[in-house]
Amino acid sequence: MAQKIQEVRITSRTVFLVIEAQIDFTRIYGKFGINGAAVISEINKIMARRPYVVATVDWHPLKPISHISFKQWGQHCVPGTSGAMYDPDLDIGHIDVEFKKGIDPDDDVYDSFKIPHFEQFIKMLDPDKVIVAGSAIPVCPSLTAMSSVAAGFETYLPWNACCVMEDTDIGKAIVELERAGVIVTNTPK
Ligand SMILES: [Zn+2]
Repeated sequence: MAQKIQEVRITSRTVFLVIEAQIDFTRIYGKFGINGAAVISEINKIMARRPYVVATVDWHPLKPISHISFKQWGQHCVPGTSGAMYDPDLDIGHIDVEFKKGIDPDDDVYDSFKIPHFEQFIKMLDPDKVIVAGSAIPVCPSLTAMSSVAAGFETYLPWNACCVMEDTDIGKAIVELERAGVIVTNTPK
């Protein structure tokens, strides 16, 4: 098993899923209180190795009615606000395609594979492997990586390219990912 993402062979057929690398999730003054500067730097390093990059973004319009997820997480990723924008340090020129999720006010989409047509799109790319990173463990990147395995892809999650929510049981989060078949690299010591 690979221990470092640097040792994983990345080709043009490798699909890199960048999950919610948006200011509301990645900046210390964002609504989730997570500092993602180091994470964005690691995501940039992986993108620079030229995988096919698919970004998903949380996108919750305030109208017609408030989004269901605001009850749990507070208002976030509202189109037209800075928090909904990509982290300013993210090399967005490497992004090949973007999917928005959570537009439906009743649907809290954590797992990017729940986006309509997403799985079919990834299958069409015929990836040699899938790498998942972004924000924030143990929610969106974790669930997306587990669904990627379920969809039949060899799936890597580089820990240092993911934001981790403050109260996360790190050991438990890693065990759950590995039990599902996700290859977790750069695991914390
Ligand atoms: Zn959300």
